[in-house]
Amino acid sequence: MNTCGLYLHIPFCRQKCFYCDFVSYAGRSEWMKPYVEALRKEITLRGGLLSDGEDPRTVSTVYFGGGTPTALPAEALAGLISLIRESFIMDEDAEITVEANPGTVNSSYLSLLREAGANRLSFGVQSFDDRLLKNIGRIHTAKQAHYALDWAGEAGFDNISIDLMYGLPGQSLDDLKASVEEAMAVKPRLSHISVYGLTIEDGTPFQQMQCAGRFTGELSLPDEDEAGDMYDYLTEELPRRGYARYEISNYALPGRESRHNLSYWQDVPYLGMGAGAHSYGPWDVGGEYGCRFSGTGKLEPYILGQDEVRYDLLSREESMEEFCFLALRTAAGISRRRFREKYSVELEEIFGEVIEPLVKKELLISDAEGVRLTRHGMQYGNVVFREFLLT
Ligand code: SF4
Repeated sequence: MNTCGLYLHIPFCRQKCFYCDFVSYAGRSEWMKPYVEALRKEITLRGGLLSDGEDPRTVSTVYFGGGTPTALPAEALAGLISLIRESFIMDEDAEITVEANPGTVNSSYLSLLREAGANRLSFGVQSFDDRLLKNIGRIHTAKQAHYALDWAGEAGFDNISIDLMYGLPGQSLDDLKASVEEAMAVKPRLSHISVYGLTIEDGTPFQQMQCAGRFTGELSLPDEDEAGDMYDYLTEELPRRGYARYEISNYALPGRESRHNLSYWQDVPYLGMGAGAHSYGPWDVGGEYGCRFSGTGKLEPYILGQDEVRYDLLSREESMEEFCFLALRTAAGISRRRFREKYSVELEEIFGEVIEPLVKKELLISDAEGVRLTRHGMQYGNVVFREFLLT
């Protein structure tokens, strides 16, 4: 039987971080209960359709993302995990990840999640520097992050990831190094690290601050060279400490790659549930190359079951583009064999003219197995991905 992943979107946060443009709402706790009820209905419905339909699939990974899943009461999250287990055909060793904000959990919260079957945690730590955490509007402190990591280990989680950010207002290379050192001090607890450079997104408080010229003095943003130095430091230091870079932004100890996130890049279907969650695969409307669909992300229509869902059927060309630039995000890159099996044509026949010049510019490596980004190419991934557009 084929497999798939599940993504559950929990769109609540205690407060909005200054850089965030995700679908998430702060100060809407009165919507949590009806939201969980609506999500339970969707899980039951989709579980039935997927398990009993023409193309039944086992679930190999489940990912609770947000927002802040741990903004919900632990019992609500545990109840959702149980319902997923009842409603879908689960792989015995399914990876079940919960994104967590260190400022929203305690020891008993994490123990309850573990007992419910969650086996992976992803903490949005971002930095171990309270000054920087405050600068970006996070609700937690470095001390809370340390406690959360300790409690997670004590609760029995042995697969724990943290996010770290660089390029933050007021951050120097030395500040970043200090955060990495703190992470390394808890290395026995950490199997995975994701790193993200700050980008100023439209509609965020940071965009307003930028327009108002407020990134000065103690809030100065690192310039391009400084941000580049931070990037270089992370890409060299984390592998040196044993965390192999398996995707542009992700590093893991051997065997501890995020199976769920890898499935996004390896063309595995996934079903998103909850307001604004995205899905990809042959679901519902089919299409030879599958479709992508998602709702609006608005809470009320989702809760009332009146959300508008937008479906995009993928053409062969669009499917080939996505196959390539998603696979290129990973260290393994595009597999010639998998491309041939899916499209009955050689990779070179479609993208040969694109690949050759990028190899000459030392952005890509091409060999018998496939095509992948060089280290330099990983830094300029978007430049490479653009070249793979056919439409
Ligand atoms: S906790 Fe995450 S989702 Fe919530 S506002 Fe901050 S960055 Fe956005």
